[in-house]
Amino acid sequence: RQAAAWETRMAPAITRDGHQVEVVANLGNTAHAGDAVERGAEGVGLLRTEFVFMAHPQAPDLATQTAQYGEALDALDGRPLVARTLDVGGDKPLPYWPLPREDNPFLGLRGIRLALTRPEVLETQVRALLMAAGSRPIRLMFPMVKDLAELRAARAIVERVRSELDAAHEAEHGQPLMRDVQVGVMIEIPSAALTAASIAPEVDFFSVGTNDLTQYTLAIDRGHATLSAQADGLHPAVLRLIEMTVAAAHAHGAWVGVCGELASDDQAVGVLVGLGVDELSVSSRQIPLVKARVRELDLTMAREQARVALAQPTSEDVRSALDSLIEQNA
Ligand code: PEP
Ligand code: MG
Repeated sequence: RQAAAWETRMAPAITRDGHQVEVVANLGNTAHAGDAVERGAEGVGLLRTEFVFMAHPQAPDLATQTAQYGEALDALDGRPLVARTLDVGGDKPLPYWPLPREDNPFLGLRGIRLALTRPEVLETQVRALLMAAGSRPIRLMFPMVKDLAELRAARAIVERVRSELDAAHEAEHGQPLMRDVQVGVMIEIPSAALTAASIAPEVDFFSVGTNDLTQYTLAIDRGHATLSAQADGLHPAVLRLIEMTVAAAHAHGAWVGVCGELASDDQAVGVLVGLGVDELSVSSRQIPLVKARVRELDLTMAREQARVALAQPTSEDVRSALDSLIEQNA
């Protein structure tokens, strides 16, 4: 029986009508990658690399970072790692990177905007990630991108580092290294979702950060003491942005993940699958549950859930409509 439980845990998440959804882990620490695999993760969908920077009194050097990322890649044993580049600023300070005081830090210098002011920091991080990966699958993802210009600026750094590394490898080994690198952006600012059609041709994937996307769409601080409960990612406005993101990505052969809290919301899994989301990235603990939810679905039912949800005026209406629909189908 134990062997059967292990097999279920490790098996892919496939709907009753044969549609596979990748279920991967959100990690805040490379030391936890092995645990994620044990719980059935098919890879890491979001490595929050901030922890590497916060664990040191100054920016960690190339060797330190390479060793850290390598630890996760070793544990993943060939499964893909989506590493988000440094996402600090705003509400996430870094002691050795002093920032001007801002009245609205959530609307200020944070994420990729901040990283692009110190390109050498981003460059070292990208070099460490590519060196740690070698020929293993690595996906680089930029946080808080608002439009194509920011993607291009960040992507140029990746291309430069990559060609330097490739040239050095070829000079030393006489042949190119077959890398498995993809580049993507997080969709967590409404403008990025609304202009996804212009970004999609230049990325391999999108990953929807529903925590920030909900905050910026509903204008509710995600950590607000009394209002945060209203910051519900199942709001139809957020769902429409996800729908646009998926349509833009799929039209250009890119894939879409969801790595915010919504991906592990019991009522949302069907809606997200119905909207065409290809990958759900959730905390390791929730992987078995999310896989179980996917296995209960069929695609027609999931699409119906998405259709009904999109037609509601508020998140409360979305939740009660989904309840009735699920009851009807039970
Ligand atoms: C998000 O915004 O949904 C996200 C996954 O990123 P973080 O929670 O780290 O801001
Ligand atoms: Mg975010």
